[in-house]
Amino acid sequence: MSLVKYTKKRKFEGKSKTNEPKGTIKRSDRSLIFVVHRHEASHLHYDLRLEMDGVLKSWAVPKEPPANKETKRLAIQVEDHPLAYAKFEGVIPEGNYGAGKVEIWDNGKYELKNRSANKIEFRLNGKKLIGDYVLIKTHYGSKPDKSWLWFKV
Ligand code: MN
Repeated sequence: MSLVKYTKKRKFEGKSKTNEPKGTIKRSDRSLIFVVHRHEASHLHYDLRLEMDGVLKSWAVPKEPPANKETKRLAIQVEDHPLAYAKFEGVIPEGNYGAGKVEIWDNGKYELKNRSANKIEFRLNGKKLIGDYVLIKTHYGSKPDKSWLWFKV
């Protein structure tokens, strides 16, 4: 993200200067939210959800989120969830997808530091999860196109 090209093409000083806005890059200080749900479905798991592109990008994590730098967790990407899901807690009734108890295990704001197709770097500012984390695409497991590793750095 840069305004270098925009700025180069325009004269913002002098007699024949443009009346277009010079503009600055807005620091991405708009808070993004994250939530980790504890989900007692057929298998207990945790769901990491990060606000991106106006939705909650979501990963199902079979074990407790990584608490230290030595722990790497498999995180299976699942369907995007609406932002409103960040507030959801309750029991999904039997017969429904993901039936079982859903609790907010942690939540808060987060900072997206870098994002590419295969790697997401972010800083969580939750109550339990605080610090820099990475999600990296792996290609193993039963769902190679959905498999990521989640760890603390
Ligand atoms: Mn789930």
